[in-house]
Amino acid sequence: EAIMATFVFDFSEGNKDQKDLLGGKGANLAEMVNMGLPVPPGFTISTEACKAYLKDGKSPDALRVEVTQALRKTEDQIGRHFGADKEPLLLSVRSGAKFSMPGMMETVLNVGLNDTSVQGLAEFASDERFAWDSYRRLIQMFGKTVLDIDGELFAAALDAQKAKAGVASDPELTAADHKEVVAAYKQIVLDEAGLEFPQDPRTQLNMAIEAVFNSWNTERARLYRRRERIPNDLGTAVNVMAMVFGNLGETSGTGVCFTRDPSTGHSGVYGDYLSNAQGEDVVAGIRNTLPLAELEKLDPKSYADLRAAMRQLETHYRDLCDIEFTVERGKLWMLQTRIGKRTAAAAFRVATQLVDEHLITMDEALGRVSGDQLSQLLFPHFAADSGVMPLAKGLGASPGASVGEIVFDNDGATARKEAGAKVILVRRETSPDDLPGMVASVGVLTARGGKTSHAAVVARGMGMCAVVGAEALKVDPNAKTVTVGGTVLHEGEIIAIDGATGEIFVGEVPVVDSPVMVYISEGIDAAQQAAHGDPETQDLINSVDRLLRYADGVRRLRVRANADTAEDAIRARERGAQGIGLCRTEHQFLGERRTYVEAVILAETEDERTAALDPLVPVQRQDFVELLTAMDGLPTTIRLIDPPLHEFLPDLTELSVKVAVAEAKGEEADPHELKLLAAVQRMHEANPMLGLRGVRLGLKIPGLFDLQIRAIAEATVELLGQGKRPKPEIMVPLVGSVRELQIIRDRAEKIIADVTATTGTALRIPIGCMIELPRAALTAGRIAEEAEFFSFGTNDLTQTTWGFSRDDVESAFFADYLESGVLTISPFETLDGFGVGKLVKMGVEAGRATRPGIHVGVCGEHGGDPESIHFFHAAGLDYVSCSPFRVPVARLEAGRAAV
Ligand code: PEP
Ligand code: MG
Repeated sequence: EAIMATFVFDFSEGNKDQKDLLGGKGANLAEMVNMGLPVPPGFTISTEACKAYLKDGKSPDALRVEVTQALRKTEDQIGRHFGADKEPLLLSVRSGAKFSMPGMMETVLNVGLNDTSVQGLAEFASDERFAWDSYRRLIQMFGKTVLDIDGELFAAALDAQKAKAGVASDPELTAADHKEVVAAYKQIVLDEAGLEFPQDPRTQLNMAIEAVFNSWNTERARLYRRRERIPNDLGTAVNVMAMVFGNLGETSGTGVCFTRDPSTGHSGVYGDYLSNAQGEDVVAGIRNTLPLAELEKLDPKSYADLRAAMRQLETHYRDLCDIEFTVERGKLWMLQTRIGKRTAAAAFRVATQLVDEHLITMDEALGRVSGDQLSQLLFPHFAADSGVMPLAKGLGASPGASVGEIVFDNDGATARKEAGAKVILVRRETSPDDLPGMVASVGVLTARGGKTSHAAVVARGMGMCAVVGAEALKVDPNAKTVTVGGTVLHEGEIIAIDGATGEIFVGEVPVVDSPVMVYISEGIDAAQQAAHGDPETQDLINSVDRLLRYADGVRRLRVRANADTAEDAIRARERGAQGIGLCRTEHQFLGERRTYVEAVILAETEDERTAALDPLVPVQRQDFVELLTAMDGLPTTIRLIDPPLHEFLPDLTELSVKVAVAEAKGEEADPHELKLLAAVQRMHEANPMLGLRGVRLGLKIPGLFDLQIRAIAEATVELLGQGKRPKPEIMVPLVGSVRELQIIRDRAEKIIADVTATTGTALRIPIGCMIELPRAALTAGRIAEEAEFFSFGTNDLTQTTWGFSRDDVESAFFADYLESGVLTISPFETLDGFGVGKLVKMGVEAGRATRPGIHVGVCGEHGGDPESIHFFHAAGLDYVSCSPFRVPVARLEAGRAAV
């Protein structure tokens, strides 16, 4: 009875959409077979088989049977038998996960060769040298990747044979030489792995397949997945394919090509070819490759066939494809294709080119670019023609191009900054202790950590350039050196880091402004001028313009900005913000104005407090006049003061020490300081984030909110008087109960009515609140009775839903959580759709049930995160609000979410 195939699929049985089951390589091989392209026969072992193997520690029984069936089919198609003594069929075994993944076992070629089939191959190919060379390659690859033997041992044995034969290069070795190498290799296998090189072809195949399965869990593969947020449980597929040979003489060869230029997008012939070679020779760079166009002269027929296949693939995939191929004695074989990787600039250009060629729609074009790519294009970058070679490469964690002196610690960073230098903080990894150093630096470089490491998260938050996880770096903070290979760099030496590509350079590299940034902030004419006639830059600007305008046309989500000052607001508006979604007014009290708040806190009587609050009204009024002027005509959500009061007071320990020192010296303590100390002690909270902040503060010290409300109302009157169109909205933070909002709202309405009465100007200022506590989301239906709008504060909502302190958690244990797969990304970066997102959805629904059409937005950091934006679109929000810099990214992603 036939077994239902679940683990093994002939190439003719799948298609390109089955990447989950067949892996990327397998799915695309199947697609090429469907298209009638010349793919060597073979089959794909599914990711299901891999998962079963990893779960049980052994291959499922059915796999053995299904492999036999598929293998026989392959043999029948090609008319030869696997590992047979005569005309042997040989196989390549290659890994192929859903996402291409360096760090996993790649390839074993020539599987099926042994002491007898090598003779059969020699006769078949009429080339004894080729056959023994193939056999020694098999033992080498098998030894290295399946048996985990140090590759250097094989390389050394080959070198020894060359020395013995008195030749300089591999191709000069004779068949007899290769026979000796094979014997030496077998001995290496025996010595190192403790087993004979397996002579049974099927044993070779089974071991190679299991080696691919095992390679899913190598340390490097796990590390890569963690960095790229690829789930750990996908497993890899294995592709088993009949060998075709590019090294059967001058009429054979192997190459790689792209259907269009992956850096410019231009259609044409891009690729490399190496005659009389196997795939790994191209990668190993043993000989110089030829430009693909040369193949036309060497072998016009294969070249024409390849061009036809390239066109067919591009027509079919309707995208840039990259291809691996082999020519065996004048016959073209397609070994692999996939959608080609490309630079951010090429992504935009290719997308609009394909539209202009009528191959894709504008909707599809929008799907071909991403907010991350756009943000890469917005940062200044190193001049492409600088000719400086990178010293090392890490992960580009926060884009930008920074040049500065190396510093190793906070003191070094601040001292050099004060002296006027630009500095780059170099650490093995960073922790919250390094914050002062980061603040003083133009960039941060770490040897360890991934894209959610402390350095990466903090740098992105600050909009500073960061390269993390550059493992080649040996950082010695005591010696104040960083070593890369043989290069030792000292404190004070200049380095340059590229936060987009992760490249690290020694010395100055010239930085150029991004023309796309000029486009975003000054418009297309200015950008075209800044392009200085460079056609590629002009083309890029046009592509970005077309796609961004299209996104603006199709998106439903509006995009606002989080901006606290008029300056930020102007910047946000230039970049297309349609309003302000969050003005954090507490930021207006930092710096010199801190003392105003201090006076409010220290006030002991009502009169004292009023006296302390009064001078704040004109100051705040002026803030709001400026902000509302900058946002004239656009909605401007002003949030009443939020943070714990101790943030405005001196540090408890510092102050206690100061007072104690004075006492010890027998000096009279400063009465102001004593008063301050008493206040700090009184207000000290174990969990300030869960303490007296937000609306709680507004209820405890009513004057604070009142003065802000008055200032907003008066600023509005002033601007209306000037014929402007101010559109303020008052937002109450940290509401957990409808009653809290109701009290504030009643007071606000009285104050606004009072301002109207004194000025004679009617005011219409919506009052709403943040939804940033689970209770607020759970009771949103009631809160909506009092709120005219909602704004989800997903920072606090994440903090309180998970119970993760947003200030500590990233450094404390996120690394472990990411390692063990509890998290795949920090929930403070990308919204946790299942948990926190559920509260958002509930809040929206309940709010709309009470108050149909209630305006709902989000102003947590997630408002600028691409994946989260797609979530907010689906959840039916009206707008997202993000940092001014992210506005273009949010516009693009909101458009992508809508198509
Ligand atoms: C939030 O909690 O998501 C929010 C926007 O407020 P803040 O970050 O100021 O607490
Ligand atoms: Mg908050």
